[in-house]
Amino acid sequence: MTQEKPYAIGIDLGGTKVIAAIVDQNGSILSQANAPTQKEDAAEIVISRIGDLVSSVLADSGVGISQIRGIGIATAGIIDTNRQMVIFASNLNWSDVAIGDKLGQRFGVPVQLINDANSAAVAEWAFGSASGTDDLIYVTVSTGVGAGIISGGRLITGIGDSAGEFGHISLDPEGPLCACGNRGCLENYVSGLALAKMAQEQLQAGAESSLRTVCEGELGRITAKEIGEQAESGDPLSISLMKQAGYYLGVGLTNLIHLFNPQVIVFGGGVMKNGRILLEEAERVIRQRCISRMASQATFQFTTMGAEAGVLGAAGLYFPAARKQVAV
Ligand SMILES: [Zn+2]
Repeated sequence: MTQEKPYAIGIDLGGTKVIAAIVDQNGSILSQANAPTQKEDAAEIVISRIGDLVSSVLADSGVGISQIRGIGIATAGIIDTNRQMVIFASNLNWSDVAIGDKLGQRFGVPVQLINDANSAAVAEWAFGSASGTDDLIYVTVSTGVGAGIISGGRLITGIGDSAGEFGHISLDPEGPLCACGNRGCLENYVSGLALAKMAQEQLQAGAESSLRTVCEGELGRITAKEIGEQAESGDPLSISLMKQAGYYLGVGLTNLIHLFNPQVIVFGGGVMKNGRILLEEAERVIRQRCISRMASQATFQFTTMGAEAGVLGAAGLYFPAARKQVAV
């Protein structure tokens, strides 16, 4: 076997900052640096700033570009992984930006793009606590809901890099119209935005809750964070909202388990930081509704990754994830 290059570079490209890191096959970060991104900056300027960050982490770590397998870039928005282009990213004000070609020309290494939810899934698969399996799903419950699906050792991207839109599976065919065009999407019942909206409606209708004190009477200030915290402190309204969201999440996860028969489902995203009650309710629904053999084959866990998940997932594209050990 030929000696493989030991490192990859992961880039986490966000609307307020970009982070670059050199990562080894164990997911250890040798060096990292970041720079601001602003919507007003032209794409050319941001790309040249990213290039400078790459040069700086290489210099800091003493790693030569000849030891780098490639550069992975995790970003929100619509991407094209065949042409390594950002097709549209509202947070950066980008459309049709050939970032892969530009960085590839500058450094002479392969460049691959990956979307946020998929990069979190790859990070868990390559380096996280779920790295022993080739069948895992990462579910993020944040402002919206999304999923990154690894099935049979392959990241499922679909033909247009859009697979895993878990937030837009319909749970009620006649439910509220969603921005995506479908009705009764999971995101309307489970996301951070949905939780805040439901809390505000109930409080407006006169419900008693410690949320009133927390928001000092300004209902518009309530977010999923306060609801999660108050649920953990025993507030009955917050508990019932988290349970209701957990119920719908459980129905959605049952569909997901029936489709992919995963071994591990990893949960991340802001809502899941206080997601104990939500997940307990979801698991109860799964045990009740899911084909029992498939339910018992799946385990559920919260992500243990922190702010580095983006760069680790992007770099993880270049490392074969821990395959199941097969005796030969
Ligand atoms: Zn939708």
